[in-house]
Amino acid sequence: MTFTLAIIGRPNVGKSTLFNRLTGRRSAIVDDTPGVTRDRREGDARLADLRFHIFDTAGLEEVTGDSLESRMRQQTERAAENADVALLLIDGRAGVTPTDTHFANWLRTQNVPVILGVNKCEGRQGQSGLLDAYSLGIGEPLALSAEHGEGLEQLYDALLPYYEAGLARAKEAKEGSDTIDFIPDSGEEDDDDKIANAPLQLAIVGRPNAGKSTLVNRLLGEDRMLTGPEAGITRDAIATPWEFQGRKLKLVDTAGLRKKARVQEKLEYLAVNDTFNAIKYAQVVVLVLDADQPLEKQDLIIASKVVDEGRALVIAVNKWDAVKDKDGSLGRIRDRLQTSLQQIRGVRVVTMSALTGRGVDKLLPTVFEVFDIWNTRVPTGALNRWLATMTEAHPPPMGSHGRRLSIRYMTQVKARPPTFILFSATAGKLPDSYLRYLAHGLRDDFGLDGIPIRIQTRSGRNPYADKT
Ligand code: GDP
Ligand code: GDP
Repeated sequence: MTFTLAIIGRPNVGKSTLFNRLTGRRSAIVDDTPGVTRDRREGDARLADLRFHIFDTAGLEEVTGDSLESRMRQQTERAAENADVALLLIDGRAGVTPTDTHFANWLRTQNVPVILGVNKCEGRQGQSGLLDAYSLGIGEPLALSAEHGEGLEQLYDALLPYYEAGLARAKEAKEGSDTIDFIPDSGEEDDDDKIANAPLQLAIVGRPNAGKSTLVNRLLGEDRMLTGPEAGITRDAIATPWEFQGRKLKLVDTAGLRKKARVQEKLEYLAVNDTFNAIKYAQVVVLVLDADQPLEKQDLIIASKVVDEGRALVIAVNKWDAVKDKDGSLGRIRDRLQTSLQQIRGVRVVTMSALTGRGVDKLLPTVFEVFDIWNTRVPTGALNRWLATMTEAHPPPMGSHGRRLSIRYMTQVKARPPTFILFSATAGKLPDSYLRYLAHGLRDDFGLDGIPIRIQTRSGRNPYADKT
């Protein structure tokens, strides 16, 4: 094996879930109750092309008769002894707890490199925990969602050096003697194995009768190149990734569509839950509008939900075949978007007819374009050079004591959607208008059109001060 990773953290932060994901034991039972008996927690893990050994420390929670502190000591000691690198996991939704701090302090005194992971960061709720995590003083936290497989790219980047070092070690050992055999895993494929290649998760949502089913059938019917064994069966087709111009994608939670295909259920019932679920599990959301009655209140509620969840949005104006005044209609839609969806400027609008197929060919290229923007990472150097010009062109306002509010530093903590942190001694005082100025600037200067951008402020010192 190339290297050994220890997952460390207090009960319930998601260690087992991550363990299972990395070892491929998807179905192992994960329980909410701390201390539930578990298997031996060691295994061979894979992350894309990385192969390594992993153990989690969940089992130690069951040690009885010990104080929490001594149990934690056992965990950290074991990690320090046996691992090449430790991953300290915390729960982004719960934020930093005293136990987490304790772990972090302990780990810092040990002779093992530590990566900090903030789990349960899917959606929005983990964000504050992500910011809090800086206070542990272990460097830049990774935003993860073990359950949804998010943040694995960053984990990959963080682990790569240990993998390479392990390979080098193995190679050296092999040249020195014949007894060590390091054989790179031949590896069967699985979904998050090839992260870069993982299918884009697409949701198609909209009000009843907007034309979603028609659109899905057309997309699958015309562009489908099924990679699974059950080609041809629509229901499976929905769950199976298909390819478009060499890139994979997959429809998420089309329960609503499927249900509808089976029985004509009450439309109202279908709408809300299924839509919100689909948005939650998607990366890009196509909101299908009926060109005849575009952007009514319900559409805007859905669009806002997409933005709130941090997903990338594409608007598909359907039934375009039936529109007489096409220019006027498109103009009205754009105006409405401008005024009603100010959080994200530059949303892509595709006009099409799912019925005739006309214009549908523009949809997937747009989806991938927006997806790529959603994945943008702006290098820290470029970001801070940009910040300098922005604050020079339009300095932050004066604070209460007549001193100008200062912004020290900015960094992008995650992509999907791009999320930035501003470090400022006076973070809480920066007015929203100034943050909006920066958000608009980011959008314009780094081409982040049509996706949510998040900017958080953070007081305190620049955590990279001693690194740069
Ligand atoms: P452990 O005790 O640290 O091993 O934690 P588990 O892996 O048993 O997870 C504890 C609980 O957190 C379970 O209910 C999991 O389903 C849940 N959980 C794990 N990862 C995530 C995640 O990424 N997001 C959310 N929302 N819940 C998660
Ligand atoms: P869903 O409820 O959103 O899944 O909508 P459906 O796909 O069932 O479509 C609702 C109705 O709109 C059906 O009668 C479709 O034939 C019709 N429809 C769908 N797309 C188009 C289109 O592009 N143009 C026109 N004129 N009608 C369409």
